[in-house]
Amino acid sequence: MHTKYIFVLGGVLSGLGKGIVTSSIGKLLQSKGYTATSVKIDPYINLDAGTMRPTEHGEVWVTEDGGEIDQDLGNYERFLGKNIPKRHNITTGQVFLSVIEKERKLEYGGRDVEMFPDIINEIKSRITSVADDNDFVLVEVGGTSGDLENQPFLHACREIGREHPSVYILVTYVPFLRNVGELKTKPTQHAAMNLRQVGIFPDFIVTRGERKVDEPRKATIGKRCFIDSENVIDDPDLESIYQVPMFFEQQKFGEKILKKFGISAKEGAPGMANWEERVNKLMHSDKVVRIGVVGKYVKHGDSEHKDVYLSVLEALKHACAEIGVKPNIEQIQSTLIEEQGTSALEKYDGIVVPGGFGATGTEGIITTIKYCRENNVPFLGLCYGLQMAVIEFARNVCGMDDANTTEINCDTHYPVIDFMPEQKDLIKLKQYGATMRLGAYPAVLKEGSKVREIYGQEFISERHRHRYEVNPEFIEQLEEKGLVFSGRSPDRRLMEFLELPNHPFFIATQSHPEFKSRFETPSPLFKGFVNAAIGKTVQKTL
Ligand code: GLN
Repeated sequence: MHTKYIFVLGGVLSGLGKGIVTSSIGKLLQSKGYTATSVKIDPYINLDAGTMRPTEHGEVWVTEDGGEIDQDLGNYERFLGKNIPKRHNITTGQVFLSVIEKERKLEYGGRDVEMFPDIINEIKSRITSVADDNDFVLVEVGGTSGDLENQPFLHACREIGREHPSVYILVTYVPFLRNVGELKTKPTQHAAMNLRQVGIFPDFIVTRGERKVDEPRKATIGKRCFIDSENVIDDPDLESIYQVPMFFEQQKFGEKILKKFGISAKEGAPGMANWEERVNKLMHSDKVVRIGVVGKYVKHGDSEHKDVYLSVLEALKHACAEIGVKPNIEQIQSTLIEEQGTSALEKYDGIVVPGGFGATGTEGIITTIKYCRENNVPFLGLCYGLQMAVIEFARNVCGMDDANTTEINCDTHYPVIDFMPEQKDLIKLKQYGATMRLGAYPAVLKEGSKVREIYGQEFISERHRHRYEVNPEFIEQLEEKGLVFSGRSPDRRLMEFLELPNHPFFIATQSHPEFKSRFETPSPLFKGFVNAAIGKTVQKTL
């Protein structure tokens, strides 16, 4: 079957949630019996998101094959329930680098190499090469239609539409102006006009905003942007992103897209029943679980980051939706614990310490972990969270008073966390980009451990992103005092999981299981944690 393309393009503002629109459409197509994959175009020069500061870029998503990517790939995986490899992310830097490399190898036969057609062709071939045997490829272009850096990508999208069956969707902002009490459609009209300048006539316009867009406004958008008003699809703020596919379904968005391609839902298609049931459990369960996420990147100036621990927050919600408990999740800046102590933590049923880099706020994290350990509060440590748990245990249980990671203190007497040997040379050579331990690695779980019980198997695989690890020189001393390294790399060299047997739930992992959690298949470890937080403890003693 000939692959069909759906282009999701932005207007007016970035950050509107095009990724959720793209993911939701993918889910709808799956529910109608079709296969779909997606591509994210990031028009920045960076080769990937790996070198970007979390406070500026938000969380860096890690793919199974070790790509460090924008979080939209995470949304695709969470909604579509499948792995999206790193080649599904295209940046300006990647495109130009490969064109220049080809030019140096004389692959353009000595002619001058130009934006048109060479850069455009490179983008086209990168987009079309991900299709595999999928019925649909969804292509999301970051930024908005007027951005200078978007132009080559928009031209490539237009050309693919001349060669393959394609549909164009403009996601735009419809603001509500309080002083006049009205929704304004003019920015949308300008965004559609911008697209027409590159030869793209949108088939659908998805309107984002605080409020629902009414019929008269839909009619105006339709008339002024030259589309049927029934193809103006409303997408107001909803309580949960997982409601969006259902909200689209109510407007027959999936059916309308299929109709544009001249097809309809397949016989025996899976539908949305399972999804819907989970959304209902997530939003309407009577029982509430209060979870604190204590991290170093919560605050940036006066604002609170919503997406710096995005995958962790989503993984918690996935677990809650399956268990049937309503999540009440709060993020706490770890420096606050340094200033005010642990009283702010008392209201939580469980505490997560996510990943991080560098010294700021780490003493607050260590104090938080001590509080969890001593007060039997369920604790889940992720990557830096595991490293901090080892430091806390070394200092406060093993008496290694200045124990630390060499990422923070190179002169500590007890470097319980240290560089992985292969990382030392890379850092000396300033090779920072894409050189961490990245992507999926296997671990072997110890018989009789809680993690073995939780995962229900001996061999597991989770995704990683780190340069440091537990220093093997200290393992014996730590284990003698009761810390159990319950998961190791198959060669037993790397400590992948730790736990405390006599605690309701004190588990940390060097990996990031949040990257493998999907709405319809939550991470076992997050499920175990939420269960412990609501009092359902895994009964295992080592
Ligand atoms: N900074 C730590 C390391 O590089 C942990 C990284 C993380 O939490 N992802 O090992």
